[in-house]
Amino acid sequence: MENLKPFKHFATDAIHAGQEPEQWKCKAVVPMISMSTTFKQEGPGQHCGYEYSRSGNPTRNCLEKCIAALEGAKLGMVFASGLATTTAITHLLKQGDHIVSMNDLYGGTNRYFKKVASRMGIETSFVDCTVAKNVGAAIKPNTKMVWMETPTNPTMQLVDIEAVVSVVRASNQDIFVVVDNTFMSSYFQRPLSLGADIVMHSLTKYMNGHSDSVMGALATNSDKLGEELRFLQNAFGPIPSPFDCFLVNRGLKTLHVRMKEHMKNGLAVAKFLESHRCVEKVIHPGEYQCSPGVPPMCGKGHSSR
Ligand SMILES: *Cc1c(COP(=O)(O)O)cnc(C)c1O
Repeated sequence: MENLKPFKHFATDAIHAGQEPEQWKCKAVVPMISMSTTFKQEGPGQHCGYEYSRSGNPTRNCLEKCIAALEGAKLGMVFASGLATTTAITHLLKQGDHIVSMNDLYGGTNRYFKKVASRMGIETSFVDCTVAKNVGAAIKPNTKMVWMETPTNPTMQLVDIEAVVSVVRASNQDIFVVVDNTFMSSYFQRPLSLGADIVMHSLTKYMNGHSDSVMGALATNSDKLGEELRFLQNAFGPIPSPFDCFLVNRGLKTLHVRMKEHMKNGLAVAKFLESHRCVEKVIHPGEYQCSPGVPPMCGKGHSSR
């Protein structure tokens, strides 16, 4: 915990990024909840940046900017759930394309790839991504996306993001790499700084942190992927409500405080269980050292006795 160095300005960004009071006439320091579906145009196509709330909403916009700042990304985008985000990203692929994913994934992601994407003619190989060369071996000529989750929910497997990215780059420059960053949150891990093309979250978990909204997000530095994803967000419409965006925005303001406590409490419970004579095995990814660009603590976990 002593080594826990947060990303520079993290808390300030979480509280202020995208929330500039100057964007509102009344200078509100907290984003307004804009429920309007439609925005007045002075003439056809003459609008103030907003036309229709599926395409763009002021409250959602604040949250998207904040998420981009927290992930060190050019562009952030939010969706109606984590799985809606996964669906949007998978829509970058087409029939006949192939995904390399992890054999240990959040159940809903696994189900989506196996039972939904497959119906669209998108095939997924599930491999042990904790060994980077397994990813390389699974890549086919039609592979378009590599999807990993680290730590995994719920078995806490860890992937060396940089190692997987370098295996992918060495094999095919056109494959994009996605990291599900839900369990670390942007506070502990920023996959884009480790070479990933897209980072995604279920905001439902730590990012919102109050168990009162279901939502997902992604962030990217790629203009090409960003433009396509923005198109998809509008074209198939899996957007969250402005009220939920407000709640997540509020939740983010305490992320830096909450994550430190989660780390401390989780580790204390793991250490206690590890020393208990009735407990055979404890799965905990280990103490986290947090500084920009440093990959997760591979190996040094507390597991079994
Ligand atoms: C919960 C979760 C998801 C799915 O998110 P929803 O918001 O429930 O749709 C995806 N990945 C991980 C790691 C999760 O924990």
